Amino acid sequence: MTRACRTVQRMAHVLVVEDDQFVRSALIRHLTDAAHAVRSVGTALAALREVAQVGFDVVILDLGLPDLDGAEALKMLRGITDVPVIIATARDDEGEIVRLLNAGADDYLVKPFSVDHLSARMAAVLRRARATAPGGDGAGEEVVRVGGLAIDPLRRAAELDGARLDLTRREFDLLCFLARRPGVVVPRRELLAQVWQQSYGDDQTIDVHLSWLRRKLGETAASPRYLHTLRGVGVKLEPPGGAG
Ligand code: CA
Repeated sequence: MTRACRTVQRMAHVLVVEDDQFVRSALIRHLTDAAHAVRSVGTALAALREVAQVGFDVVILDLGLPDLDGAEALKMLRGITDVPVIIATARDDEGEIVRLLNAGADDYLVKPFSVDHLSARMAAVLRRARATAPGGDGAGEEVVRVGGLAIDPLRRAAELDGARLDLTRREFDLLCFLARRPGVVVPRRELLAQVWQQSYGDDQTIDVHLSWLRRKLGETAASPRYLHTLRGVGVKLEPPGGAG
């Protein structure tokens, strides 16, 4: 079996965003029982802070939060991460749900929902995310192209403008993970969780590997071509000239 960009984890890191203490406790209990690692917050702004710092596999987002409208919260989340988001809404409003799915939600649940329903939706979203993630199956094995970069997860080979790149395992994993999300700013915590499979760690680890990778791509932090560091936020990879 091929080990591509990363090892697939079955336990999921879940962020529950819910202001109702009763619903929140029930969700945490259920997800913890199902052997997931759960963190929870009660406001949209706290959720944004969390996803900027921790790499999650899935976010369950209540739409009726005290500080931000759900659609607004989703938009801001999507500005910093492509983590799968399941909307939990009390509003059985088809128009709103369609709008949110178009705005980047991966799935939705109408409250009150059963834990079985939640489990099924979560499993489906995680399966999809893992299938397209580095190391996943199916669509995850196609050659990834961004600008002059071509990355082949199956052969673990990468080229820049037709020239073979000599990368270490970690450099390859990092490049592959970022190249699958062109133009998306990936928070450092998410890189640690997804590429290094660590919940917490030293930012320097990432910086060191990024600088090695930069050198091999023939660029520097001061004049980046593909790899862009946004101080205090994260890293993105995009073709020279931008992804638009
Ligand atoms: Ca609520």
